[in-house]
Amino acid sequence: MPREILVTSALPYANGRIHLGHIVEYVQSDIWVRAMRMAGHTVHYVCADDAHGTSIMLRAEKEGITPEALIEGVWKEHTADLRDFGVGFDHYSSTHTEANRELTYAIWRALEANGHVESKPVKQLFDPEKQLFLPDRFIKGECPVCHSKDQYGDACEVCGSTYNPIDLIDPYSVVSGAKPVEKESLHFFVKLADFEALLKGWLEDRRAAGGLQSEVVNKLKEWFADGLRSWDVSRDAPYFGFEIPDQPGKYFYVWVDAPVGYFAAFKELCESGRKPDLKPADFERFTQPGHGTDMVHFIGKDIIYFHTLFWPAMLHGAGLRMPTAVNVHGFLTVDGAKMSKSRGTFVNARTYLEHLDADWLRYYLASMLGPTLADIDLDLKAFEERVNSHLVGKWVNIASRCAGFLHKLFDGRLADALPDAERTRYDNAAKKLEACSALYEARDYAAAMRLIIEVADEANAYVAEHAPWVLAKDESKRAELHVVLTLALNYFRLLTIWLAPAVPATAVCAFEFLGDAPTCFDAARTPLLGHTIRPFKALATRIDPKQIAAMIEASKESLQAAVPASSAPHPGPLPQAGEGAKPASVAAQSPASSGPRSPAPGPATISIDDFARLDLRVAKVLACEAVDGSDKLLRFELDAGELGKRQIFSGIKAAYPEPSKLVGRNVVFIANLAPRKMRFGISEGMILSAGSGGGDLFLLDADHGAVPGATVK
Ligand SMILES: [Zn+2]
Repeated sequence: MPREILVTSALPYANGRIHLGHIVEYVQSDIWVRAMRMAGHTVHYVCADDAHGTSIMLRAEKEGITPEALIEGVWKEHTADLRDFGVGFDHYSSTHTEANRELTYAIWRALEANGHVESKPVKQLFDPEKQLFLPDRFIKGECPVCHSKDQYGDACEVCGSTYNPIDLIDPYSVVSGAKPVEKESLHFFVKLADFEALLKGWLEDRRAAGGLQSEVVNKLKEWFADGLRSWDVSRDAPYFGFEIPDQPGKYFYVWVDAPVGYFAAFKELCESGRKPDLKPADFERFTQPGHGTDMVHFIGKDIIYFHTLFWPAMLHGAGLRMPTAVNVHGFLTVDGAKMSKSRGTFVNARTYLEHLDADWLRYYLASMLGPTLADIDLDLKAFEERVNSHLVGKWVNIASRCAGFLHKLFDGRLADALPDAERTRYDNAAKKLEACSALYEARDYAAAMRLIIEVADEANAYVAEHAPWVLAKDESKRAELHVVLTLALNYFRLLTIWLAPAVPATAVCAFEFLGDAPTCFDAARTPLLGHTIRPFKALATRIDPKQIAAMIEASKESLQAAVPASSAPHPGPLPQAGEGAKPASVAAQSPASSGPRSPAPGPATISIDDFARLDLRVAKVLACEAVDGSDKLLRFELDAGELGKRQIFSGIKAAYPEPSKLVGRNVVFIANLAPRKMRFGISEGMILSAGSGGGDLFLLDADHGAVPGATVK
C-alpha cells in the first residue's frame, strides 16, 4: 500500500559548518527518501537550520555581526554543502522564521491551556561581568569527583561523571573568565510527568511497529525508572530565540522551537505551491492525528531524549500527531578514532567536495549503514578500495566494456529479445534484487549494497565468460555478441536502478547514457530491448589515494586558519538523564577555512601598510627532501641570511618530484608567518609558489645578485 510520509533530518546547528559527521545523517535520510519514492510511496522531505541559542548569540557578538546575519551566512553554506552532497530536501528552512514562531506559540498556548505548564524559581550560575545566565557548557572548573581542571559544567571528560555546575570547584565563565555567582530566576517548565503513561505506551507501540529501535526504548526506560521530572523550557534574556508570549525577558529554550521547525518548514512547503501533490490544507493532514499519514524523523544518538520524550510529549499535549518513527544512527569515526582536527580527520563537507565525489562517500556510507546505533567508521583505505572495486570495477566497467561494441557493430541498439537462457538469467537477478526494497526501508543499506554487489559479480562473470571482445572479432558470431551485450547492459541498468538512492548523481548520468529514466524499482522487472542507447561517457573515475591525502592535508590547514570554536554545538543543560545523552562529539568550526566554490572575485584592495606587514625574504635552499608519510610535502632547510636557518614544509611535492635538484637555488618565503606545528615538525614560514596546486606549482625565484635574507618589497 502506498504511504504518505513526512521525513525530516536532524537540524544542523547554525553556528558551524557541515562536516562529515553530519553527512552520515543526511545521506542516511536522503537514501531512505529516494528509496521510498522508488518503492511507490509519496514522500515530503524537509529540514532547517537550528538557529537559536546562547552559542549563536555569543558567536555573532564575537564576529561583530547580528545573529540574523550570522545565521543567514551559515544557512547559505549549509544549503550549498547539502545540495552538493545530493541531499534532495523539498524545502530547507530555518527555525528563525515567522512560521516557526507562530507554530511554537500555538503549541505553547495549547500546553498552557491544557495545564501542562508550571513555573518556579531556579538557582543558576550567572556571569556578573557579562550579565548572562550561563548554560552548563559555558562554565568550566575543577571536577568535584576526580579534581581534573577545566571541565565543563555538566560532565567531566576525564572521569565521565555528570554533575550540577554548582558543584564545580573554582568555577569560571568561559565567556568572560569571571567567577559565576548563583542567582535566582523564574523558569517555566513542561510537566513531563503528565505524559508518563502516554509515553510508555507510545514507546512500546512504536517498538512493536518498528518505529523505534529496541536500544532506544531500553535506554528511555532506564530514564523512566526515576520518574519524569519537569522540563525547564525557558531561558533569561539576553538570548537569541523566541520570547515567551506574555513573559517579557523570558525566551524559549532552543530545544522547544527546534523540533517545531520540522512543522514550520513543512508548512512553508505546503504553502509554497512548489509540489503539485501538496496543498496548504495538507499541513493539517500530516500534523493532526488520525489522517493515516506518517511522520518519520532521522536523528543521531546524541539527541534521542529530545525526539522521543520532549517532542512527543509536546505534540500530544498540544493535541497534535506523534511521530511514526524516530530512526537513530551512531556517530562517524575516521580510521577507527574520533574525528580529529590535529590528524586532519575532522573534514568539512566542503573540503571533501573539493577533493572527492559526493557519490563516493554516499556509497561508502551506504555500505556501512545498518539499522542500529553502532558508530560508522570511515576507514580511508577501505573507502578508496571499495569505491574503486565496487563502483568503478564492478558496476561502471560493465557499461564501459560493452557500450563501444554495441555502437560500433549494432548502431547502439539493444537486441529486440533475449533467448530463454539469458532472459531467465535476467529475471533471476531482478527477482533477487527485489529484496533490496525491504532492506532500504529497514535502513539496512549495508545488506542492500552487498546484494547489489553480488549481482554485479554475476554480471561480470557473465561478461568475462562470454568475452565480447573475442566474439567481436568473429563476424559469424554477431547474433551471439548482440545477446551478450544486451544482457550485460541490462545487468548494468538493473544495478543502476537499485543503486540509484545511494549514488543519485551518477545514476542520473548512467540513465542518460542508457536513454532511460526509470522512477520506480518496478522498472527493473522489464529489461530494455530494441532500444537505442547513447555513446558511453565516463561515469566515475577511480579514487587516487592522493586525493584523500590532499583532503586530509587541507583539513589540517583549515585548523590553522580556524578561529577557536566558541562552544559545543548545542548549548544548555541536557535533560536530567542518568546517562547517555552526551553532547554531540562535534565542535563548531569557523568559516575561515574553505568557502563555497563560487567564482572568486579578486581580494579586496589593501593599503601599503598591510603589505608592509608581510616580511618577505629571499633564501637559499640548503637541503630539500620528501617527507616520510606525506604524499604532498617537501621539507626545506633554508639559509635566510641574517634570520639564520629556517625549516619550512611546503606542499609542492607533486610539482617537484626530485627535491634534491632544488638545493642551491633561491626561493621567496614569508618569514613572519606564525610557526606552525605539523605532524613532521615545526614549519617556520611559507615558501611562495605560483599555480593552481598539485603538479601545477612553480617556485618564485629572485634574479642573480639577490642574497639570502634580502627583503622582498
Ligand atoms: Zn572528573
